Amino acid sequence: MSDQPTPMMAQYLAIRDANPGALLFYRMGDFYEMFFEDAVQAAAALDIALTRRGTHLGQPIPMCGVPVHAAESYLLTLIRKGFRVAIAEQMEDPAEAKKRGSKSVVARDVVRLVTPGTLTEESLLEARRHNFLAAFATVREDTALAWVDISTGAFQVMDCPLPRLAPELARLAPRELLVADGAGLDDLAAEAGAALTDLPAGAFDSAAGARRLCSLYGVETLDGFGAFSRAELSAMGAVVDYLEMTQKGKLPLLRPPVRERAGGAMQIDAATRRNLELTQALSGGRDGSLLHAIDRTVTAAGARLLERRIGAPSRDLALIHARQEAVAMLVDDARLVADLREALSRVPDMDRALSRLALERGGPRDLAAIRAGLTQGAQIATRVPADAAEVLRQAGRDLTGHDRLIDLLDDALVAEPPLLVRDGGFVAPGHDDDLDQTRRLRDEGRGVIAGLQADYAAKAGVASLKIKHNNVLGYFIETTTTHAERMMAPPLNETFIHRQTTANQIRFTTVELSELETRILNARDRALEIERGIFECLRMAVLDRAAQIGQAARALAEIDLAGGFADIATGEGWSRPRVDDSRAFMIEGGRHPVVERALKRKSESFVANDCDLTAGETPAIWLLTGPNMAGKSTFLRQNALIAVLAQAGAFVPARRAHIGMVSQLFSRVGAADDLARGRSTFMVEMVETAAILNQADDHALVILDEIGRGTATWDGLSIAWAVMEHLHGVNRCRALFATHYHEMTALTARLEGVENATVAVREWEGEVIFLHEVRKGAADRSYGVQVARLAGLPASVVDRAREVLHALESGEREGAARPAALIDDLPLFRAAPAAPVAVKPKDSPLDARMKDVHPDSLTPRAALDLIYELKSLT
Ligand code: ADP
Repeated sequence: MSDQPTPMMAQYLAIRDANPGALLFYRMGDFYEMFFEDAVQAAAALDIALTRRGTHLGQPIPMCGVPVHAAESYLLTLIRKGFRVAIAEQMEDPAEAKKRGSKSVVARDVVRLVTPGTLTEESLLEARRHNFLAAFATVREDTALAWVDISTGAFQVMDCPLPRLAPELARLAPRELLVADGAGLDDLAAEAGAALTDLPAGAFDSAAGARRLCSLYGVETLDGFGAFSRAELSAMGAVVDYLEMTQKGKLPLLRPPVRERAGGAMQIDAATRRNLELTQALSGGRDGSLLHAIDRTVTAAGARLLERRIGAPSRDLALIHARQEAVAMLVDDARLVADLREALSRVPDMDRALSRLALERGGPRDLAAIRAGLTQGAQIATRVPADAAEVLRQAGRDLTGHDRLIDLLDDALVAEPPLLVRDGGFVAPGHDDDLDQTRRLRDEGRGVIAGLQADYAAKAGVASLKIKHNNVLGYFIETTTTHAERMMAPPLNETFIHRQTTANQIRFTTVELSELETRILNARDRALEIERGIFECLRMAVLDRAAQIGQAARALAEIDLAGGFADIATGEGWSRPRVDDSRAFMIEGGRHPVVERALKRKSESFVANDCDLTAGETPAIWLLTGPNMAGKSTFLRQNALIAVLAQAGAFVPARRAHIGMVSQLFSRVGAADDLARGRSTFMVEMVETAAILNQADDHALVILDEIGRGTATWDGLSIAWAVMEHLHGVNRCRALFATHYHEMTALTARLEGVENATVAVREWEGEVIFLHEVRKGAADRSYGVQVARLAGLPASVVDRAREVLHALESGEREGAARPAALIDDLPLFRAAPAAPVAVKPKDSPLDARMKDVHPDSLTPRAALDLIYELKSLT
């Protein structure tokens, strides 16, 4: 066996080596085939059969393949699993290659590199989410982040010091992050759920980046777009370079880069986003997130805008007021909202259609989407009242002035065009004379053929003779074997030329018929050609107005968002918050939109609560105590969410709210709630807390839930105590602090501006009833024992716990030594005669186990394990 690869394999290997780091989809007829290691990996990832084809260097070549028509779903699976895929197409008709010689291989080349950040296919994208590709660049001390959604063309950049990178990535959640080789950002990218792509340093050259951008936008200088730092140019340049590489030269339609102003948005870091479940629930999905609970938009672009607003609530007072104004006017006019939303529901995704057209991946339906979007848009514009809020009026203006394009598309396109250009039939009759004539020729030909059948039947004397068509023979005359004999004999055989004999039928053609057929085929091809040309013209006409269409699409999204906010405000009884520059934070009758929704499903109602953290000269901090399950976390989070909603321009789930602009929002949860993340949780908690103490300014809002509980009691209490003092004395911000360390309630006496609050419960016949009511004052006790009972701990354990608690509490009152010492003194489950109650007989397995338990040295995790263990012993 020769070691020489076959010519095809040689071609395969050359293409593969030119595209390292990607699985190669190698087009062979109706399949994309994969070979070697690619095949092994893809077969496993896609759960498809791995076969073999030939040998290479004496070894069988592993192979697997996916059919071209179903390739998108396989692509999606691969991309989701972290692969990137290079698609090599046949660049010529196989017949061409044959002409060159029998050994010659069909020319193939990679036409596109599919990566997580560069998807455009409708089926590969989530309609209601952005799909960002980001690049992080460092030039000396400067760092910058650029990001683009190639499916909509939005292109942004910001100055981004390294410590800000994690929060920004958390906000944008890019699918892919480009960095210069060896930047060492693997962990950061993984944390943000982005695929990391290392590019050679050359891709990040800022001078080359500037040149690339200039040529992309056809400008001499970028000054018109803003003054960019070298790091910003480098990041943007890398994005463009990567797009050129993956799209093989076809650049998507990128809007001019917009520089995001630092300080324009409320800063929210990754941990806070997670804890507050802003756009994603802790479980990972959208369901259970704030975004999911409040999304009433009716268009995909509206949903994407909502995600952006929730992800980056504004700090621009004028902007917030303008947006509130729009919502307010829609809240007051139910008819108008209903009208607008009805019209919006018929608006297609113009952004994405536009970008497919730009990338030459679009079809007639994308043109139709633009037509429908602009037409609906013009309609919607007429419904915006002249005295509407400025945001709506501006949207109305952006939706007008597209008449010429609408007319052109209306004239050119049929009502419901097919998906693909190559199918033809999308240009409306009457649009193009040449096309109409050619089509007539084609159709007439068909008519003539139908007429021929009668002539031939008469001529052959065979009444049952038929003219039919199939893809192999084209048009042919068909008759039964019995009748055919006459036609094959002179003189009829001069006219009828035998083509094919099947089981019962004989097929003929005639010179006249094949000539006609050629004419029909020519006319059909010519018609297709004309249609293709028209498509190109229409595409250019659309792209010429890409900027205006993009603006119209944003206007529709803006109206949709305001309508969605109005809808939920009306439906759920939300109110317009007063937002200003103060340090107020006053909420009356606040609710948690996600918890409330969940309760509603169970026909339970949510108890609204007030919160007042208005800070003046002094900071304002509430120390919240109360038993587990009382509703502390819910209360904490609802106040943070209300701030987010208020600055996103929405109404808020509260009877009344006054919010002084929040600059930064921090939320941390004590480690025990974080078990699922399986890290050294206490360490994580401390690192995250450190970040707050180091960063929070006096306009920040800080939410701390059970900080310090990830360690032994006294450590935990001391840390919580010190954190609180720091927040109060140094950060001087507004904060909510939930804790089960009752000792901390004493802080209110020492720190001005710190108040105690508690979530009320009532005890009734030894059971706790949760009232979910937040009141001023400290919780009298923790009710942990009662809660344990609700959780199904054995009665004996609960009784015993009550006893231990009692001893501890009376010990404390009598000023005894540390509880630890007290616990040591306690007769733990010993059936000593002096013990007040002998709860269990001697030497029960429970007794034995409890002897080894030292509560002070238990971590929450270990305590939980212990409860399970104890349960198993009973
Ligand atoms: P904690 O943090 O005190 O342990 P949570 O905030 O997790 O308590 O609340 C526990 C449960 O109590 C929630 O899942 C919710 O069902 C219910 N709950 C919380 N707050 C309220 C409220 N204001 N009204 C009604 N039910 C509530």
